[in-house]
Amino acid sequence: MLESALYIVPTPIGNLDDITLRAIEVLKNATLIAAEDTRHSKILLDKLGISGTRMISCHDHNEEQRADVIIEEVKKGGIVALISDAGSPLINDPGYRVVTICSKADVKVIPLPGPCALITALEASALPTDKFMFCGFFPVKEKELTETVQALENVDYTAVFYETPRRIIDTMEIVGKVLPEHDVTLCREMTKTFESFYRLKAKDAVEFLKADADRTKGEFVVAIGALKVETSSIPANVEKALKELIKTSPVKQVAAVLADLTGIKKNDLYNLALKLKEE
Ligand code: SAM
Repeated sequence: MLESALYIVPTPIGNLDDITLRAIEVLKNATLIAAEDTRHSKILLDKLGISGTRMISCHDHNEEQRADVIIEEVKKGGIVALISDAGSPLINDPGYRVVTICSKADVKVIPLPGPCALITALEASALPTDKFMFCGFFPVKEKELTETVQALENVDYTAVFYETPRRIIDTMEIVGKVLPEHDVTLCREMTKTFESFYRLKAKDAVEFLKADADRTKGEFVVAIGALKVETSSIPANVEKALKELIKTSPVKQVAAVLADLTGIKKNDLYNLALKLKEE
């Protein structure tokens, strides 16, 4: 018997078989299903043999009102399932405000693990997964996009973004210019027939995508790797100097001065300095 609560239920991101047994159980027993787009979700519910359940739409423009309906349903003992068009609700999808309002109203929120494009992409990216940042969709405006990408120049984590087929070339143009030597993985149409993972240097991405129109079709997750620090190429005496200097001066300044003096790449010195600081 399921307890009365608001359940956050992930649904497939392409392949309709990607749904957990628990998600099916919740959807089958729900007294109310709140869906981003009720018509879209009916395709999945039909496949699961679920019909006749009361449904309401819950999207960016009506979350507050829908939260009231959900609270009322749970408080009278109902089971509410919140679903989005694909993947995990709340992850670049509606639901955040519903969860916030419901929690404040002491409604129990039970999240189910399940499909999520960013995690699926990261797992196949062949980029480090020990530390990563999910950044949502790339900004659309060029200035903001450039600044966002520039901020990744010296980070030590993999950055993961969502992108649409319409914008992928323009976006990768900027990524390639700003971070030419970074490894990127373009994850396209995951779990679907034309699932592809393109692992390349950022500077080569646009040429690669333009070479075949099929390569820009479908949905994308873009993972950007951190620039690897070739610490072994930095002599021990330079490392020692770096270690001493960062005790009293800003990392950026120390890296710049030592780069001038030694001819070693400023980025490599900067990244090593950050690592030494952490240690
Ligand atoms: N809530 C979803 C999740 O859990 O991943 C994300 C919803 S967001 C509105 C949609 C974006 O997710 C797409 O534009 C694309 O960037 C990414 N995405 C979703 N499904 C995908 C798939 N099968 N392959 C690649 N990217 C996908």
